Amino acid sequence: MATFAPRTFIRHPALASAAILSAAGTAYYLSRPNFALDSAQNAPNKTLSLPKNMLFSQLLKVTSVEQINHDTKKITFELPGGKSEVSGVSPGGAILTQHTPEGAWFPVLRPYTPIHDLDERGTLQLLVKKYPNGKASSYIHSLQPGESLKVRGPLPGAGYKASPDKSHSILLVAGGAGITPIYSLTKGILADEEDNTRIQLVWGVNGTRDIILKEQLEELKRKFPDRLDVTYCVSGPEGKADAPSLAAGASGEEYRKGYVNESVIKEVVSKIQGAGKTWGDAKGTKVFLCGPPTMEDAVAGKQGVLAALGVTKKEVYKF
Ligand SMILES: Cc1cc2nc3c(=O)[nH]c(=O)nc-3n(C[C@H](O)[C@H](O)[C@H](O)COP(=O)(O)OP(=O)(O)OC[C@H]3O[C@@H](n4cnc5c(N)ncnc54)[C@H](O)[C@@H]3O)c2cc1C
Repeated sequence: MATFAPRTFIRHPALASAAILSAAGTAYYLSRPNFALDSAQNAPNKTLSLPKNMLFSQLLKVTSVEQINHDTKKITFELPGGKSEVSGVSPGGAILTQHTPEGAWFPVLRPYTPIHDLDERGTLQLLVKKYPNGKASSYIHSLQPGESLKVRGPLPGAGYKASPDKSHSILLVAGGAGITPIYSLTKGILADEEDNTRIQLVWGVNGTRDIILKEQLEELKRKFPDRLDVTYCVSGPEGKADAPSLAAGASGEEYRKGYVNESVIKEVVSKIQGAGKTWGDAKGTKVFLCGPPTMEDAVAGKQGVLAALGVTKKEVYKF
């Protein structure tokens, strides 16, 4: 289970930096023999490993920047050790970016989930949505090739536990840019040959232009047709009841109009239960959720859809 709580970091950045640095300092010295073991086995080094790189930051150099849609950039970084390294981030895990705005006393720390293949050497890739006046996202969007970003981490993933038998299904729910941890977790689960868990993924976006990882998800669906279902919910003007219908794509994915609401969740849950599956991973976590606060409340709040379906708080993991 995650030792760190990224949401708390966001709310109390100064507190978070102090806690991270002091905890990491002690633990680093206890952990050094593991690094020697890694290199003895000739495994790639990890750019970020715990707890060392909570204390000591790394600089990642930007190699390319691509504008993906109206507010999101894909930024590719080179790892400091080049092809001898992998990032060290696990499926659903994240890095903490750090920068100190001009005139500020405290650094801004924010979690971001890499989207590259995590065993790929020499590279790390982020998809970053820019928020109006967003401290970290505006800074990251300003980076040009050749410039560097300070990072710490890795932040652990969701504490998901694989199920080797075929009877398990889980529900993953993403809102907007919250897709990145959900996508990373999905890829990790599907890549594990020992895991037979089936995934129902529901992704709520404002408009179809915000479906920024569609190609990648459709590719995963083609590769794992029995293990992944994706439902897209479009809530903006295109998703209004009287708007022209949103065409389904060639691979048969479905667009729903409106928010990720009770009827969508109920329908997806009935697919899980109708197929006679055990709902939950091997630890009993039924739902993994990452989205803006309003969506998290509507889905997993006290009066939310999941509570009405009898899903308890401890059966829901919020990134
Ligand atoms: C585990 C984890 C992984 C994440 N991975 C990614 C990722 O891969 N890509 C990515 O783009 N983001 C990701 N995020 C969100 C990211 O960490 C920042 O919260 C986000 O970029 C906003 O930070 P900021 O400093 O730019 O905005 P702030 O300066 O904190 O806020 C600026 C304004 O934006 C609003 N705002 C901030 N965050 C959100 C939000 N999530 N939804 C709606 N409004 C918001 C605030 O209310 C405020 O009005 C992740 C979050 C978590 C918890």
